[in-house]
Amino acid sequence: MSISRRGFIGSAIAASVATGLSAQDLNAQDKAKDDAPRAAQPSGTSKRPIIVCANNGVNYLDAAFIFLKNGGDTLDAALRVVKGPEDDPNDDSVGLGGLPNEEGVVELDACCMHGPTRRAGSVGGVRNIKNVSAVSKAVMEHTGHVMLVGEGAERFAVAMGFPRENLLTEHSRKIWLLWKEHHSTDWWGPGLADPQWKPPSTSPQAELWEQRIQRLEEHAAQLGIEPEFRMAAIRRVLFPPTGTIHCSALNDKGEISGCTTTSGLAFKLPGRCGDSPIIGAGCYTDQDVGSAGATGSGEENIKVAGAHTIVENMRHGMSPLEAGLDALKRIARNYNNDRSKLKFIDMTYYILRKDGAYAGVSLWEGYSTRRHQIAVHDGTKRSEVTVPLFKGVSHEFPPFPVTPKELTQDSVYVK
Ligand code: ASP
Repeated sequence: MSISRRGFIGSAIAASVATGLSAQDLNAQDKAKDDAPRAAQPSGTSKRPIIVCANNGVNYLDAAFIFLKNGGDTLDAALRVVKGPEDDPNDDSVGLGGLPNEEGVVELDACCMHGPTRRAGSVGGVRNIKNVSAVSKAVMEHTGHVMLVGEGAERFAVAMGFPRENLLTEHSRKIWLLWKEHHSTDWWGPGLADPQWKPPSTSPQAELWEQRIQRLEEHAAQLGIEPEFRMAAIRRVLFPPTGTIHCSALNDKGEISGCTTTSGLAFKLPGRCGDSPIIGAGCYTDQDVGSAGATGSGEENIKVAGAHTIVENMRHGMSPLEAGLDALKRIARNYNNDRSKLKFIDMTYYILRKDGAYAGVSLWEGYSTRRHQIAVHDGTKRSEVTVPLFKGVSHEFPPFPVTPKELTQDSVYVK
């Protein structure tokens, strides 16, 4: 798939949404372009069982699908998918190896809903326990509560037999240290006596940014960050990333469940919980209707109770695609549809209706580095691009005045 082709398809989808073409029309357009990634939306020929998740779960779908097909519980199937990224030290958005809070401590959030028994569990701000999605299930099954946070949640997890472990990998620690030294106004970072110390520049902005990048590169090298990963590390420092996984699973009997797990916003304030552990924001499942989950700007999603809004929209007759786009429009409405602000926000919803129809929608087509995608398994495993509300890519926050070439040269896939 060439870069320009991807951009074209994304634009076509956005334009179709804008002109009110139906999901079936969009599907027809996609099928006509057989080398194009399919857009994630109701297929009209929905299948069960089916699992829908964020694309970082794609490698774990096969095993979970077999488990589900063989009669495994829907929540357990979804938990099998999200355990993959939670256990993976190289996924720095979830579980082990997640990027830490501003004090260098990994704090994890998760929640789950079990459709067949209409139960929910959630944990927020959990330290030292890797599989917080499973802990949220333990809260659901072994307490009379729905949500535990912080130290209490950690102690509960240990009591339930979850091992305490250090979740901060060397990889994530070095990125955090780079962030700490770069952003700090205190005594962190090399001081006046350091041979590399340079007085603050009074040069114009572009040059200043070039200097900041150069300084970060030097620091990254001193910290032992591998040369091939330095630019990626610098990007994470300049624009603290989010990252999460949601998964919903539906079996052939029509039972449905969902879960979401995350390390949240990188370098967040200690104690910050995003949308992921909030039942109704990061995840919501109703056995009568369907399931939805979210990744992206957590604070924005909490304000529209995104996953609950989507399930309620479907209850009242909207298709998964319409239900998701409506939730995104509510986020846009919170900013009076001002795209100069909305460009710094992004949100992806993963939506699965009880009959197996599904959709993946996002505020924008993607980041400068990649398209938003959802992963699906209904007997065939695939990744599909989301249907965006707005054409174009979201921008990193905080805004970057002048983008140095090295940071972007390989990254922009559209225009
Ligand atoms: N929604 C998550 C949070 O705000 C982050 C993400 O999904 O990227 O914590």
